Amino acid sequence: MARSYKQKCMKCKKNYVKVTFRNRFPVCYECLKAELNTPIEDPEMKKLFDIPEELYEESAFLRDIKLKYIRFGSLTEKQIEAFKKVVKDMLD
Ligand SMILES: [Zn+2]
Repeated sequence: MARSYKQKCMKCKKNYVKVTFRNRFPVCYECLKAELNTPIEDPEMKKLFDIPEELYEESAFLRDIKLKYIRFGSLTEKQIEAFKKVVKDMLD
Protein backbone atom coordinates (compact mmCIF):
# COMPACT_ATOMS: atom_id res chain seq x y z
CA MET A 1 0.00 0.00 0.00
CA ALA A 2 1.40 3.40 -0.97
CA ARG A 3 1.97 5.87 1.81
CA SER A 4 -0.57 8.60 1.86
CA TYR A 5 -0.61 12.12 3.18
CA LYS A 6 -3.37 14.46 4.13
CA GLN A 7 -3.29 17.98 2.81
CA LYS A 8 -5.80 20.73 3.18
CA CYS A 9 -7.84 21.52 0.08
CA MET A 10 -6.46 24.60 -1.65
CA LYS A 11 -9.87 25.66 -2.83
CA CYS A 12 -12.21 25.51 0.18
CA LYS A 13 -9.38 25.38 2.76
CA LYS A 14 -11.69 23.25 4.85
CA ASN A 15 -11.62 19.62 3.78
CA TYR A 16 -8.58 17.40 3.84
CA VAL A 17 -7.44 15.64 0.71
CA LYS A 18 -5.74 12.27 0.82
CA VAL A 19 -2.84 12.11 -1.60
CA THR A 20 -0.22 9.45 -2.18
CA PHE A 21 2.40 11.99 -3.17
CA ARG A 22 2.93 15.60 -2.25
CA ASN A 23 0.65 17.70 -4.34
CA ARG A 24 1.14 21.41 -4.76
CA PHE A 25 -2.51 22.00 -5.44
CA PRO A 26 -4.69 19.41 -3.74
CA VAL A 27 -8.42 19.92 -4.23
CA CYS A 28 -11.03 17.89 -2.40
CA TYR A 29 -13.80 15.82 -3.94
CA GLU A 30 -16.51 18.25 -2.86
CA CYS A 31 -14.90 21.12 -4.75
CA LEU A 32 -14.49 19.02 -7.90
CA LYS A 33 -17.78 17.18 -7.80
CA ALA A 34 -19.60 19.32 -10.39
CA GLU A 35 -16.73 19.13 -12.87
CA LEU A 36 -16.24 15.41 -12.27
CA ASN A 37 -19.86 14.83 -13.19
CA THR A 38 -19.47 16.39 -16.62
CA PRO A 39 -21.16 13.95 -19.05
CA ILE A 40 -18.71 11.98 -21.17
CA GLU A 41 -19.62 11.38 -24.81
CA ASP A 42 -17.09 8.80 -25.92
CA PRO A 43 -18.63 5.38 -25.09
CA GLU A 44 -15.27 3.77 -24.38
CA MET A 45 -14.17 6.52 -22.01
CA LYS A 46 -17.59 6.61 -20.46
CA LYS A 47 -17.20 2.95 -19.62
CA LEU A 48 -13.72 3.53 -18.22
CA PHE A 49 -14.92 6.25 -15.88
CA ASP A 50 -18.05 4.39 -14.86
CA ILE A 51 -16.77 3.31 -11.45
CA PRO A 52 -18.31 3.66 -7.97
CA GLU A 53 -18.46 7.30 -6.91
CA GLU A 54 -16.66 6.46 -3.65
CA LEU A 55 -13.51 5.71 -5.58
CA TYR A 56 -13.39 9.28 -6.82
CA GLU A 57 -14.02 10.48 -3.28
CA GLU A 58 -11.21 8.34 -2.01
CA SER A 59 -8.57 8.81 -4.69
CA ALA A 60 -7.04 12.11 -5.78
CA PHE A 61 -5.31 10.20 -8.55
CA LEU A 62 -8.55 8.96 -10.11
CA ARG A 63 -10.06 12.43 -9.88
CA ASP A 64 -7.02 13.87 -11.54
CA ILE A 65 -7.13 11.46 -14.48
CA LYS A 66 -10.83 11.97 -15.06
CA LEU A 67 -10.43 15.76 -14.92
CA LYS A 68 -7.54 15.60 -17.36
CA TYR A 69 -9.82 13.84 -19.78
CA ILE A 70 -12.67 16.29 -19.18
CA ARG A 71 -10.36 19.28 -19.63
CA PHE A 72 -8.19 18.09 -22.50
CA GLY A 73 -10.37 15.49 -24.21
CA SER A 74 -7.79 12.73 -24.27
CA LEU A 75 -5.52 10.54 -22.21
CA THR A 76 -2.37 8.61 -22.98
CA GLU A 77 -2.32 4.81 -22.95
CA LYS A 78 -0.20 5.02 -19.81
CA GLN A 79 -2.75 7.16 -18.00
CA ILE A 80 -5.56 4.80 -18.99
CA GLU A 81 -3.59 1.78 -17.81
CA ALA A 82 -2.71 3.48 -14.52
CA PHE A 83 -6.34 4.43 -14.00
CA LYS A 84 -7.49 0.84 -14.56
CA LYS A 85 -4.84 -0.51 -12.26
CA VAL A 86 -5.73 1.82 -9.39
CA VAL A 87 -9.44 1.03 -9.80
CA LYS A 88 -8.69 -2.68 -9.77
CA ASP A 89 -6.49 -2.40 -6.68
CA MET A 90 -9.12 -0.40 -4.85
CA LEU A 91 -11.89 -2.84 -5.67
CA ASP A 92 -9.87 -5.92 -4.72
ZN1 LIG B 1 -12.28 21.69 -1.16
